[in-house]
Amino acid sequence: MQYPKPLGRLIGELSKLPGIGNKSAQRLAFHILSISDKEAEGLADAIIEAKKTMHYCSECGNLTDRDPCDICTDPSRNPDVLCVVETPQDVLAMERIKEYHGRYHVLNGVISPMDGIGPEDINLKSLIVRLQKHPEIKEVILATNPNIEGEATAMYIARLLKPSGIKVTRIAHGLPVGGDLEYADEVTLLKAMEGRTTI
Ligand SMILES: [Zn+2]
Repeated sequence: MQYPKPLGRLIGELSKLPGIGNKSAQRLAFHILSISDKEAEGLADAIIEAKKTMHYCSECGNLTDRDPCDICTDPSRNPDVLCVVETPQDVLAMERIKEYHGRYHVLNGVISPMDGIGPEDINLKSLIVRLQKHPEIKEVILATNPNIEGEATAMYIARLLKPSGIKVTRIAHGLPVGGDLEYADEVTLLKAMEGRTTI
């Protein structure tokens, strides 16, 4: 079936969004057409405003509407520790646990030779500059994802920072809370054994 042109355009744009197939795009498009003009304008406006005002913090690489971002300028944050994460979403995840009070460095990617992404393609050079500029930073926590790319990126950064003498730590991996040994895959179980702590 041929859609009327404006409807086809809307469905086409929506289906470009991650996780949205053609069916979902069609459902969303019909929903948007059913809401009031004001609501639809609010949605369009929110997209335009966020796109215009949000950018990467020049200090840490997190997404922000001011530069430097709120976390970088927050005097109550512990200046001694930096937590290196892959994405701004990872910052939000870390913030949710309310246990970490240091600052962040967001790579906005991971090293992935398979995809042609090298160290120079992620926000890594600024980490070195930052560490030189802030000798008060005593520890760098590598909190990249526990998958092949995340591990490779963590190893690369650890090697890069070794000569600086800064303490470099890696977040522990292991069994999920509520998990079951019996159903854990071997890598997860191995990581859990390696990361064991004294109780
Ligand atoms: Zn920042």
